[in-house]
Amino acid sequence: MSQTESFGFQAEISQLMDLIINTFYSNKEIFLRELISNASDALDKVRYASLTDPSVLDTEKELSIKIIPHKEAKMLAIRDSGIGMTKADMVNNLGTIAKSGTKGFMEALTSGADISMIGQFGVGFYSAFLVAERVQVISKHNDDEQYIWESAAGGTFTITVDTENPPIGRGSEIRLFMKEDQLDYLEEKRIKDIVKKHSEFISYPIQLAVTKEVEKEVEDEEEADEDAEKPKIEEVEEDEDGKPKEKKTKKVKEVETTNEELNKTKPLWTRNPSDISQDEYSAFYKSLTNDWEDHLAVKHFSVEGQLEFKAILYIPKRAPFDLFESKKKRNNIKLYVRRVFIMDDCDEIIPEYLNFVKGIVDSEDLPLNISRETLQQNKILKVIRKNIVKKCMELISEIAEDKDNFAKFYESFGKNLKLGVHEDAQNRSKLAEFLRFFSTKSTEDQVSLKDYITRMPEVQKSIYYLTGESLSAVKESPFLEVLKKKGFEVLLLVDPIDEYAITQLKEFEGHKLVCVSKEGLELEETDEEKAEREATAKEFTDLCTVVKDALGDKVEKVVVSNRITDSPCVLVTGQFGWSSNMERIMKAQALRDSATSSYMASKKTLELNPYNGIVKELKRKVAEDKADKSVRDLTFLLFETALLTSGFTLDDPTSFAKRINRMISLGLDVDEEESAPPLEDAPAAEVAATSAMEEID
Ligand code: ADP
Ligand code: MG
Repeated sequence: MSQTESFGFQAEISQLMDLIINTFYSNKEIFLRELISNASDALDKVRYASLTDPSVLDTEKELSIKIIPHKEAKMLAIRDSGIGMTKADMVNNLGTIAKSGTKGFMEALTSGADISMIGQFGVGFYSAFLVAERVQVISKHNDDEQYIWESAAGGTFTITVDTENPPIGRGSEIRLFMKEDQLDYLEEKRIKDIVKKHSEFISYPIQLAVTKEVEKEVEDEEEADEDAEKPKIEEVEEDEDGKPKEKKTKKVKEVETTNEELNKTKPLWTRNPSDISQDEYSAFYKSLTNDWEDHLAVKHFSVEGQLEFKAILYIPKRAPFDLFESKKKRNNIKLYVRRVFIMDDCDEIIPEYLNFVKGIVDSEDLPLNISRETLQQNKILKVIRKNIVKKCMELISEIAEDKDNFAKFYESFGKNLKLGVHEDAQNRSKLAEFLRFFSTKSTEDQVSLKDYITRMPEVQKSIYYLTGESLSAVKESPFLEVLKKKGFEVLLLVDPIDEYAITQLKEFEGHKLVCVSKEGLELEETDEEKAEREATAKEFTDLCTVVKDALGDKVEKVVVSNRITDSPCVLVTGQFGWSSNMERIMKAQALRDSATSSYMASKKTLELNPYNGIVKELKRKVAEDKADKSVRDLTFLLFETALLTSGFTLDDPTSFAKRINRMISLGLDVDEEESAPPLEDAPAAEVAATSAMEEID
């Protein structure tokens, strides 16, 4: 007696199954697409294994998918001769291990997504429960016995060693015991239509078991016996053809089952592009990716000469829900060698930043039994990769011709392009053309670097940018004051990845990219402007020294600013160190190593605005008395306020708040001791507003 083991579905999967069973949804036919797609994946796996060990196919040579409707039993079987599942595979893959997509798919469903999207979330198998009240999976892997997995949902499934069915050799048979109102899916016509619609481009033969009535001639004497054995045989009238017959025979109709192949189309990529319709490209895209929407752009090309390959590349309309989830194996470019599928996760075929591009590549030159290890070294693959990247650039350029389309594309994949600018030195300048940023002159639409350049006043030489956390955080930044006045546009970079990309880019079409919050900002200025600035700087030398002494090593130096016209001061960072924005990003990344961060978080320079009233007044006070106590206190307030307006965070916000509160008390003429208790270590008698402020820092 074989033992039946029971298992509970992982909680989220159980929830998902309930949702699948209970949601009203009419487009249930997609279940077949999902099961065929799984069969095809399983066949891919066994074929790949056979490239290095041909004996894996000994258990079953033919690689195919069979669909067998059993009308009496109200059961639809989908059989493949793929890799099959061991018992452990069944336990893990069909119910106990949650996939990231389970939750994602349920969330998508509740926010209005369509059940047909299920395949993209990696839980397509459970779509079987759209049409079946009970599902069996009979599977045989070369390394294990034949098992039956069975479930009627309700939170549990069972696994049993299969002693009741004939051996299937190798592979899996999914048996769907159909719901009473879904018997339509047992009809040949319906199945043919669905396969044509959703699974036309599966690269293994999909055979449908069709039944036909055939006429057979049998000897009359045997009639009685045959009738007894085959109840389906019907007697028919004998033809009157006039010829006398010596032996008595009669014709009978018999039901015969044959396999009819449903997907006879040649692989799409081997056909001539001019003979292929957009609908065909779109159908192929959907079968390749499980996407439910059409693609945004496609490129079908072949390379000939020293090396030969054909490829079809697609750009989807939107990013998958897990584009940047790095652990997930990407399934993007399928690699074929002379029409034989090799693998769908070949890292070497396309750089990571283009991981949103989907498609297939079919090489004439690679060896069939290529292994993952040799792939990395392979020269042919390097050339293929280079060509693919080039074609991707063309594809993106084509999308960029339509502004609206490109905006959609950029929203989904802009991050990838920025990553590309960072990583791909060879294509950096090409990729930079695709970048779009907000700017001081365009806070609604993002602008390209090319647009920016065409708008530059003649005197302007560099491209200016400012990075920060959000548009509202940088829009009114003091760093923009002089640039705005001069009519220089400043790009506002508010995506964390922007700063990585732009620091790699360094320049665009001969124009330096200059960060306006960093040291050494050389604004294009006339000789008079320069002379005036230098003269003013001299006048403020004393104040700068006093302020620097007060702040100690909180700042590297104190200088007169050329970039602010309104604010009293700003804090700039070293040219090669982090900007305030980068410092914020790095602080947020818990695992940064503290050695680099103290090195990269370079010292800040405090820049004073010589035209600001506060600064002028401070200068006057210093001129009167270098040791004026209030100068020191105000300096700290100015410094901390500048930290905030320059995009830094306060190390000690409490002290800052106390300073501000004391200023408020002073302003309101509130008795200090009433409004706030004196600091513990300060003798109460001495606590005047200003000296208290001094104690805190
Ligand atoms: P996905 O196909 O995206 O992995 P599914 O929910 O469709 O997600 O399938 C879950 C897993 O079950 C597959 O990854 C595979 O390991 C296993 N599986 C499903 N169908 C088959 C099959 N016909 N043969 C072998 N394994 C299968
Ligand atoms: Mg699947």
